[in-house]
Amino acid sequence: MKTIGLLGGMSWESTSLYYQLINSGINRRLSGLHSAKIAMVSVNFYELEQLMAQGNWDRIAEILVASCLKIEAAGADVLLICTNTMHKVAEQIQAAISIPILHLADATAQKIRSDNKKTIGLLGTRITMEEDFYRGRLTRHGIEVVLPEDSDMDIIHNVIFDELCKGKCIENSRNEYLRIINDLHTRGAEGIVLGCTEIGILIKPQDTEITLYDTTLIHAEAAVEFALR
Ligand code: GLU
Repeated sequence: MKTIGLLGGMSWESTSLYYQLINSGINRRLSGLHSAKIAMVSVNFYELEQLMAQGNWDRIAEILVASCLKIEAAGADVLLICTNTMHKVAEQIQAAISIPILHLADATAQKIRSDNKKTIGLLGTRITMEEDFYRGRLTRHGIEVVLPEDSDMDIIHNVIFDELCKGKCIENSRNEYLRIINDLHTRGAEGIVLGCTEIGILIKPQDTEITLYDTTLIHAEAAVEFALR
C-alpha cells in the first residue's frame, strides 16, 4: 500500500473528514484491521486566511511548500492538498516536491466525465469560483462551468468562512445554498460541484435531486485508489 500525503488544516473541519474517509475507504477494500498509511501536516488556518485577505499568495506558497516538503520527507508517495482554494498555488508546490499532486480539479473532472455530464455549476470560495486555476482546469477537461450570480457568490463565500470552517451548520444557509443550486440547474447545470471541502458538511445528496459532486468525497476516493493501485 502506498502512503498518502495530506496537506490539511484548511480547515481542520474538512481535514478530519479526509482522514475518516480515506481510512474507511481502505478498510472497506481490504477489511480486517487494515487502515491507510497517511503522512499529514496540518497548518494553522488563521495565518493563511490573513494572508489570503492581504492577497499575499507568495507567502502562502512558501508556507505550503515548507509543509509539503515535510510530508514528502515523512515518506508520502502522493500529495493531496485538502482544499480547493489552495490549488491556486499547486504549480509552485509541484515544482518544489518530487511526489505527484493528486489534483482535486482533475479527480472531479474525471468523475463528471464518467457520468457523461458536460455542464456543471460551481460553488466554492470566490477565488475558486472566479479564478482560472480551478475553473480553467475543469474547462480543459471539456466541462462547461456555470457560476452563481455575483451577489450569490458573496453568500456562498461568507458562509464558508464565517460558518462551515468554524463547524457551524445553519438552516438558513442551507436553504440559501439550495436556492442557488436550483438556480444553477435552471441555467443549464446538469450537476453541481461542491468545490469547497466544507460544503458537504452543509449540503447532503438527500437535500436535492440534482447530482452533487462533493470534492472531499471524490478526492478521498481517488487517494484510496492511488494507494491500492
Ligand atoms: N476548504 C475550502 C476549499 O476547499 C476553503 C478554505 C481555503 O481557503 O482553503 O476551498
